[in-house]
Amino acid sequence: MYKKPILMATEDMSEGIYAASGANTITKVVDCWTVTATLKQINQVGRMDRRIQIVCAHASVQGHQPPLVVTVTFNNPVENPQCGGATPTLTAPNVVTLTRNQPVNPNESVGLGDLVVWADDSLLLVDIDIHDTH
Ligand SMILES: [Zn+2]
Repeated sequence: MYKKPILMATEDMSEGIYAASGANTITKVVDCWTVTATLKQINQVGRMDRRIQIVCAHASVQGHQPPLVVTVTFNNPVENPQCGGATPTLTAPNVVTLTRNQPVNPNESVGLGDLVVWADDSLLLVDIDIHDTH
């Protein structure tokens, strides 16, 4: 997918080539879901932890059985993923899979809380995906 150059505008030059392939906010529509990830802590030199807010808006009269699985892909490797509203698993060096083992009600927006990872200053969001269970 083509990324608008404007995404690089808020990044400094030290982030190099990675800045072209990520963003601070990404949204994807998958079936009855609109899932959004927002990198809330950026450019904090000296801090290892990065905080990402995950919101899953659900537009359907049908509910879902668990699990609800959200996959977040970063431009760089991350470590030590933690999340209040789901169980995080590092499924690749730069990919965190969040598993929520609760049913989803019709038209219920699911806030997974903040995903916290360890990463360097150049961390950006590359992709997000969501899979429910029928
Ligand atoms: Zn649904």
